[in-house]
Amino acid sequence: MPDPTRVVPLHPSLQAPSLAPATPAQLTYRGGPLLTAVEVTTIFWGAAWRQAGAALAAQVNSFFDAILSSSLLDQLAEYDVPAYSIGHGSRVGTATVVPTRAQSHLSDGGVQRFLQNQLRTNRSLPQPGPNSLYFIYLAPGTTVSQGGGRSCTTFCGYHNDVGGNLFYAVMPYPGCPGCVGALSVLDALTSTSSHELCEAITDAVPGQGWYDDANGEIGDICAWKTKKVAGYAVQLEWSNRAGACI
Ligand SMILES: [Zn+2]
Repeated sequence: MPDPTRVVPLHPSLQAPSLAPATPAQLTYRGGPLLTAVEVTTIFWGAAWRQAGAALAAQVNSFFDAILSSSLLDQLAEYDVPAYSIGHGSRVGTATVVPTRAQSHLSDGGVQRFLQNQLRTNRSLPQPGPNSLYFIYLAPGTTVSQGGGRSCTTFCGYHNDVGGNLFYAVMPYPGCPGCVGALSVLDALTSTSSHELCEAITDAVPGQGWYDDANGEIGDICAWKTKKVAGYAVQLEWSNRAGACI
């Protein structure tokens, strides 16, 4: 089985044109967990978030405070299944973590070890439950590899799980044209964050929730199409019911 798609792709102007014919999108449910009342914790990783990035980090937290009880989550209710009913969420924590030795490149495994170590040792972080989602924001100049790709080269963010019960998303700083597009840095960050948020809710274990074998997850089908909700740039998401990005 191919590795399920879990990333925000680069802006289309910087991708190689696809030669494959477009297959109409239709997500199907694969039986895995959904996040019904998502509890977001933001972790800003790197000294930059204490310095020049502090204001941006505060804006990202405000974004989650507004968006988690907005129409963006309401529209996901069409993906309810008998065991999971998707409602509003909340931001339950935030932390800025400055590593003793900064790394310019990380692996996904390195991010997982960081998160698990923080959950063991950082008392300011809420402990994980079935609805927990940890958003890890990387500092400018730090890249991450996942699934054979690399941030700013092939993707702009991704979500993943550890062991099917610890859910997280990794948001590299959008410091390249492919991950900013025509947006401001804040708009790029909230747009890609909303993409991963909606995908983590509807496909918490990539490929085991709502998924389309040809087109990927709910956000992939609509990448880089944005709208404003609660004053923030968010990405459109695929609606099976509407047969369109909404
Ligand atoms: Zn995606």
